[in-house]
Amino acid sequence: MTEKQLSTDVVVVGAGPTGLLLAGDLATAGVRVTVLEKRGGESNLTRAFAVHARTLEQLDARGLADDLIATGTALSSLRLFGRLRIELGALPTRFPFVLITPQSNTERLLQERALKAGATILRGVEVTGLRQDAEQVRIETVENGATAVHRARYAVGADGVHSTVRDLLGIPFPGESVVNSVLLADVRLERAPEEVLTVGANENGFAFVAPFGDGWYRVIAWDRARQLPDSEPASLNEIADITRRALGEDYGLHDARWSSRFHSDERQAPNYRSGRVFLAGDAAHCHSPAGGQGMNTGLQDAANLSWKLAAAVRGWAPDALLDTYQTERHPVGRAVLRSSGALVRLALARSAATRALRSAVTGFADNLGPVAARGARTVSGIGVRYPAGKDAHPLAGRRVPDLRLTGLHPAEGLSGGAGGPGRLYEALRTGRFVLVSNDELSAADPWADRVVTAAPADPHGKLSDTVLLIRPDGYAAWAAVDPSRGELRAALAHWLGAPSDD
Ligand SMILES: Cc1cc2nc3c(=O)[nH]c(=O)nc-3n(C[C@H](O)[C@H](O)[C@H](O)COP(=O)(O)OP(=O)(O)OC[C@H]3O[C@@H](n4cnc5c(N)ncnc54)[C@H](O)[C@@H]3O)c2cc1C
Repeated sequence: MTEKQLSTDVVVVGAGPTGLLLAGDLATAGVRVTVLEKRGGESNLTRAFAVHARTLEQLDARGLADDLIATGTALSSLRLFGRLRIELGALPTRFPFVLITPQSNTERLLQERALKAGATILRGVEVTGLRQDAEQVRIETVENGATAVHRARYAVGADGVHSTVRDLLGIPFPGESVVNSVLLADVRLERAPEEVLTVGANENGFAFVAPFGDGWYRVIAWDRARQLPDSEPASLNEIADITRRALGEDYGLHDARWSSRFHSDERQAPNYRSGRVFLAGDAAHCHSPAGGQGMNTGLQDAANLSWKLAAAVRGWAPDALLDTYQTERHPVGRAVLRSSGALVRLALARSAATRALRSAVTGFADNLGPVAARGARTVSGIGVRYPAGKDAHPLAGRRVPDLRLTGLHPAEGLSGGAGGPGRLYEALRTGRFVLVSNDELSAADPWADRVVTAAPADPHGKLSDTVLLIRPDGYAAWAAVDPSRGELRAALAHWLGAPSDD
């Protein structure tokens, strides 16, 4: 076997949304990254339509949110079934809505960013083997019948639900099928639905209609009485019939350009890390599409892992930092499995008791108050919080909102530099930590290549006496009220590694 030998810092397997965000972050941080993707061309296979608020915040922290919003429609509530809606308008974010846009738009923007930052994306390259030792990962690939070996210090399997990387690591994927024989078709409609997203369910099935924005629509339909294997063709008549029964009409659907029958599983890998190799996105967890969580959760996995991997490659992080990817993201994945599973089971409910519960929930949906607000924070990802040590400041591990800042340093390319106004999510576009305080912050100078310093724009606001260190993924790393210079330096050394003048 003749082998090409290629080496890089990180190999990412899979150019779906998860792999592309990760690759863009690593390249922005100056890490050499190669993405290996078995598909020859770019994906035209849109599955996700919903981009939630926390994902939009992460995209804002990469300069992509406004461009993505321009491709879709913002909805201030998400209709789940019947009258059950999750109201998103009161979420404490610049993006109090869910954006409806085909997954291919999100992937296109993420790919453009990754390439611009210097990532290498190799298409038509299938990963077939993987071995690792204490120093590196050796990845075998096949491209047009020719084999090659890629060596990297770390690898990430972002290769979707049927992950080869997960199988090669011997990591199980326990779970079960939650709904079978779901029909899917991309069609034209004679009459456009009144709502952007149309969802309906009764005791016999459900249907869902979403726009691509170019005259094509995605229809998903399920009939309890017709449970067939995935190999059975999906007929347009069958889809129209279920749609009529679930939604009251079929909108004159016709001309399917694509249709299929699939099943939806609920599974999660028990370990997201094995040595130098990590799993992210659908490779680590999958669940029903209810609530539109899959792509969003994968993108948050990538945002959590990327800065930790970059710090490990640069020699700034202790190995234990990489373990926090599992302790922070595995519980989030489990919670998403639970909530999307509960939604789908409620939607498919057949027993009289569950149907009664569903009508009670939908009947009182408008009056659920705090429960509904919690639902909005959960579905949108805004409520995600990571564990912090028991003596930590109450802000540690929490999402930091888009603070107004001033006096950003170093100032290059930042609108809040040189005394002008700025925003936290703009400062995070540097891929660095952000240190916010009213105090003079020269203690951070030795870490200037890893941290942006700034003052709150309102010096008398809630943070007036607090020093706050924000991680590159927008969660609070550390905070303290009036810390000494020594305490601040100790916190910076803990989170950012040894200063560059050591
Ligand atoms: C009907 C439906 C509706 C959905 N709706 C939503 C929604 O509204 N919102 C939402 O957030 N999510 C939704 N999802 C889920 C969402 O589409 C996925 O969670 C998302 O695509 C996962 O992204 P990923 O990058 O982790 O994996 P993928 O998008 O699956 O990408 C993995 C990539 O890895 C490549 N690959 C696989 N094996 C190899 C190999 N051996 N070598 C090289 N490359 C390889 C694949 O070709 C692929 O490009 C939906 C899913 C379905 C089925």
